[in-house]
Amino acid sequence: MRLGPTHRVAEKRCMRCEKVLDSATPADSKDRPARGDVSVCIQCGHIAIFTRGGKLREPTPDELRSIMADRRVKTLRNAVSLLHVRGKPN
Ligand SMILES: [Zn+2]
Repeated sequence: MRLGPTHRVAEKRCMRCEKVLDSATPADSKDRPARGDVSVCIQCGHIAIFTRGGKLREPTPDELRSIMADRRVKTLRNAVSLLHVRGKPN
């Protein structure tokens, strides 16, 4: 998996930890986040879905099952866990 360039996005807060999210780094892409793309919070690993207006919403249970089976999501959530172990994201 390769990470693309980091894009500034409209400021929003993680629905779990309240972390201000104002940038997004795509996995295996160079594109800005679009409607339906998955977001993984850099602070807590919470998964959300980008909406058309660039906001975030909770995934449906079916979406969440599919997302959790995606190897890229597992890799990103593991990376967030490692950042916490090393104490960087707080
Ligand atoms: Zn979070």
